[in-house]
Amino acid sequence: MTPTPSKQDALRYIRAKVDQLLAVMGTCPLRSEELDDDTLIALDPIGIIAESFQQVIDHLNETNQSLSIVTDEIRAILDALGAAVVVLDGNDRVDDCNRVAMDWFFGGLNRAQVVGHPAAEVCTCAGELSGIRSCADGSMHNVRLYDRDIQIVASKIFDKAGHHAQTVMLFTDISQRMQTEEALRIAATAFEVQEGMTITDSAKVILRVNKAFTEITGYSAEEAVGKTPSLLRSGHHDAAFYAAMWESIERTGTWQGEIWNRRKTGEVYPEWLIVTAVKNDAGLTTHYVGTFTDVTSRKKAEDEITNLAFYDPLTGLPNRRLLIDRLKQALASSTRSLRHGALLFLDLDNFKTLNDTRGHDIGDLLLQQVAQRLSTCVREGDTVARLGGDEFVVMLEDLSENVLEAATQTEIVGEKILATLNHIYHLHNYAHHSTPSIGITLFADHHGTIDDLLKRADLAMYQSKAAGRNTLRFFDPTMQAVVTTRAALEADLREAVQKGQFVLYYQAQMDGVGRLTGVEVLLRWQHPLRGMVSPLEFIPLAEDTGLILPLGHWVLETACAQLTVWASQPEMAHLTVAVNVSARQFHHADFVDQVLAVLDKTGANPQRLKLELTESLMVDDVEDVIAKMTALKAKGVSFSLDDFGTGYSSLSYLKRLPLDQLKIDQGFVRDILTDTNDSSIAKMVIALAESMGLAVIAEGVEIEAQKDFLASHGCHAYQGYLFSRPLPLGAFEEFVKGV
Ligand code: C2E
Ligand code: MG
Ligand code: MG
Repeated sequence: MTPTPSKQDALRYIRAKVDQLLAVMGTCPLRSEELDDDTLIALDPIGIIAESFQQVIDHLNETNQSLSIVTDEIRAILDALGAAVVVLDGNDRVDDCNRVAMDWFFGGLNRAQVVGHPAAEVCTCAGELSGIRSCADGSMHNVRLYDRDIQIVASKIFDKAGHHAQTVMLFTDISQRMQTEEALRIAATAFEVQEGMTITDSAKVILRVNKAFTEITGYSAEEAVGKTPSLLRSGHHDAAFYAAMWESIERTGTWQGEIWNRRKTGEVYPEWLIVTAVKNDAGLTTHYVGTFTDVTSRKKAEDEITNLAFYDPLTGLPNRRLLIDRLKQALASSTRSLRHGALLFLDLDNFKTLNDTRGHDIGDLLLQQVAQRLSTCVREGDTVARLGGDEFVVMLEDLSENVLEAATQTEIVGEKILATLNHIYHLHNYAHHSTPSIGITLFADHHGTIDDLLKRADLAMYQSKAAGRNTLRFFDPTMQAVVTTRAALEADLREAVQKGQFVLYYQAQMDGVGRLTGVEVLLRWQHPLRGMVSPLEFIPLAEDTGLILPLGHWVLETACAQLTVWASQPEMAHLTVAVNVSARQFHHADFVDQVLAVLDKTGANPQRLKLELTESLMVDDVEDVIAKMTALKAKGVSFSLDDFGTGYSSLSYLKRLPLDQLKIDQGFVRDILTDTNDSSIAKMVIALAESMGLAVIAEGVEIEAQKDFLASHGCHAYQGYLFSRPLPLGAFEEFVKGV
């Protein structure tokens, strides 16, 4: 048997013998030197051999030779082939076979045991051979044999007499070629996918691009081939970016990432790019393959998600999450730089009222305008965020290292915000005035948590609310004490309600000619340690805690009892008594019954009782308010609208309320002579009362000129220090004697 040659031996052998064979034939167009080793192997001589084979057969037929008598050289060629050659005679006897055929079809036997024997006796697939012989016509067939893809060419050789003497069969294993073809088909399909692809040579010159490349970039294959991928450069990345990319490709064989490229139209777009270096056996890069997807839409979606996650959709401002993120960074950077930062916590005063009376659309408009204005008050690096509702936070960075200077800088910004937000807003043709309360805390080298910081600013904001709103307050450590005091105050207040530490003061109400017409009762708390405490300090707390209910009941009962007492005193009998009723008290389901019960119990004349309501009360459930007022009015009780002008009463609601009197807030009376804004509001309230057929009274009248001004515009009822301060009962009765 011919020893199995090494690959190189075989190649050399095949090359030489193919040339010899070709020389014998003289007609084959191919020359072995035209083929390199790889091509020779890739062709698996079938391309040459199948063709040459046919020429051999034709030659044999022309010369009427039998294959059995071929020269040693030709046998050597046949043995060197990777293909099997079997020659059968007309009776299915084996006339000849080559080395590969011995392996495939005659396992274990040697040539002498095979040649001259019937195929049926020596061949493992005699049936197939016989079948092939009977239809041999020189054409090619592919069959599966021994788990391989085999290409068969079978030709007949005729003897001198023209009889069919032999059948020569060539079996070539094309399994690998089939696989390669399949792989190529897959690769070709894969190349035409959704992703853009570029194949370049080692010098990065584009050799091929696919359809998706053209669709994404706008460049046709003709325009791209021969150029380098820098054709697509957007200018968005610097040289260092590309250097790092190529460094990674050379070092690891691949790079992937997002890159901005430019389409033929000039449009810059983001793509996700994967570049892979293709290396040969020697490890040298022969090609680069670039695969990319246009991520414009994904990026848009991502941006939207980021926006949702980090920005407030209504105002476009950063939300709480982003604020906290930035706050963390700001804390870290202020620790490094030692420079201060500041947090300003903002809450819009009476926003709920606007929202409830004008509707959420109007509320939203205000929030958007506030957001815009806030953004104009800060520097570029500062953050304006919306926490939700009407709460905003402004974070200032890079303030002075000196804490007092930093506080001054912050106060300037705070004042600017106050002024800016105080300007009139135009909300769908509706002019609106809104004010913020601002709490401020500074930070630098902060050791507490972010939460602590936000809490501090929040506390400071509450302090500015307590200070009358539309103002700003700084958090300082003493504020903690304030919070603690609030808790203590609540406990005290509960005790005070139980122990009856309250007393009523009486303030005179006068008419235009100086006659006493009535009195407003004002609550005082005689605190055992703190002395007389103002209702401004404890009424909000009493409202928050619900203590206003027993307290309000006590006020009403005491006032009505006083009415009854005065009813029998000629100089007092005509006085009306005005009692302040807080919203929470009024909204209580039993309010009407309670008032009626108190009237009943004390025997007071309902005609002399006036209830002072505030505008905030009309915010919720107007129908219920109207029903309650109507029920009480039916008994003779009258109503005054306190602090009128400070809230957001909708005129249409106002008209429906069974009111008797509007009370001009002392805030407008205070500067009525100097502030045209205040004076015009006062005049408007007077006109309004007149047009609605209501009485009007001004409170906080301290000087004659204020009274004269009011009188000249038609307001002839007054309450204020000009006539009398709120007085304890005895003092008030003394005062009445002097009127
Ligand atoms: P209000 O009902 O508007 O009461 C008028 C406030 O103005 C009173 O303050 C009164 O002392 C003050 N005032 C009267 N004349 C003048 C003046 O000429 N100049 C100045 N600067 N102030 C004047 P007060 O007594 O501290 O009461 C404050 C608020 O507390 C009241 O405002 C009212 O809303 C509430 N309040 C008082 N008593 C009660 C009560 O029994 N129940 C409820 N729910 N609230 C009450
Ligand atoms: Mg009042
Ligand atoms: Mg008032």
